[in-house]
Amino acid sequence: MKIAFFDTKPYDKQYFDLLEHPLYEIKYLETKLNADTATLAKGCTAVVAFVNDDIDASTIDQLYDMGIKIIAMRCAGYNNIDFEEAYDKIHVVRVPAYSPYAVAEYAAALMLSINRKTHKAYNRTREFNFALNNLEGFDLHGKTIGIIGTGQIGKIFISICKGFGMNVIAYDKFPDKTADINYVELDRIFEESDIISLHCPLSDETHYIINEDSIEKMKQGVYIINTSRGPLIESHALLKALQTRKVAGAALDVYEEESAFFYEDCSSEIITDEVLTLLVAMPNVLLTSHQAFLTKEALENIAKTTILNLNEFFEDKPLTNEICYKGKTFETGKNCLEKPKGRCF
Ligand code: NAD
Repeated sequence: MKIAFFDTKPYDKQYFDLLEHPLYEIKYLETKLNADTATLAKGCTAVVAFVNDDIDASTIDQLYDMGIKIIAMRCAGYNNIDFEEAYDKIHVVRVPAYSPYAVAEYAAALMLSINRKTHKAYNRTREFNFALNNLEGFDLHGKTIGIIGTGQIGKIFISICKGFGMNVIAYDKFPDKTADINYVELDRIFEESDIISLHCPLSDETHYIINEDSIEKMKQGVYIINTSRGPLIESHALLKALQTRKVAGAALDVYEEESAFFYEDCSSEIITDEVLTLLVAMPNVLLTSHQAFLTKEALENIAKTTILNLNEFFEDKPLTNEICYKGKTFETGKNCLEKPKGRCF
């Protein structure tokens, strides 16, 4: 069975090669999957794809015509797939959880760095500049953090924040009534938080959840952390607010136009995305390349679950991690339990 594995990085290959998968011959491709590259999957039965692949209607139709039966996403998010087009043609499976700790702990790392400016201190001391001017932060203890999205990652991040003695308030469209979480309306998150951290999926509803209006409602000097998806934040609005210092700092592991740059070495190129260059150049922005997931445990789990997802499909079993736009729990990202024969179609 041939599998086309798109957007391969050395660490992906390393963890997939460690696993036994005698059924599959994996064709590792460095290029991202999109309408222009879909033909590279010719002769394969399955495709493995990642967060910045563009799996639009044209890509899906081309894959379907080539005989691709399943797209196995090696990530949790699925905003880059045209599910309506895929329905009844190609099954889509994902890795719903590989290590929520990896992302939650990374959000904590970003929160500590952007507040205490360790990224700037590191650069200074490498040049033997031991001055402390402008490196002042604040105690997290007693500060209010607003969490948007209280799923697997949001919940772990909440417990980390409680460990710091922070006052945690949260908003979720589908609050978990069994959890010990202080849920509030979204506007209260904006109005009361010293730090806001995003942990909801990207959807029509959450697209630009941080925009000019919501920033207007926020406290002067608020900090914003995004380890979820770039388009949750309207970048122009954020940039403006950073320039006026309404927003004191932003720690971003994702960016709305990241697919053209992230995961690649662009250090010799002229970056034409002016918002990105301005954000990177700002002293109160810490931007990383969608790496919150990048732990040994997460990479092992991604490889294992992806192979299990493919095994289930080719062994004609119910698809535990299948997702489609008709699923009752599509919005929440939880797996639908009402699939006929354990498959979406
Ligand atoms: P999850 O499905 O467990 O939790 C998402 C939560 O968001 C759920 O509680 C859901 O009810 C809530 N939600 C849905 N719609 C909402 C809305 N309109 N407003 C507010 N809340 C809403 O997902 P998770 O595993 O906790 O992951 C959260 C997000 O983190 C993913 O969607 C993905 O975008 C991102 N992520 C990023 C990385 C990274 O490397 N940076 C890695 C994994 C996941």
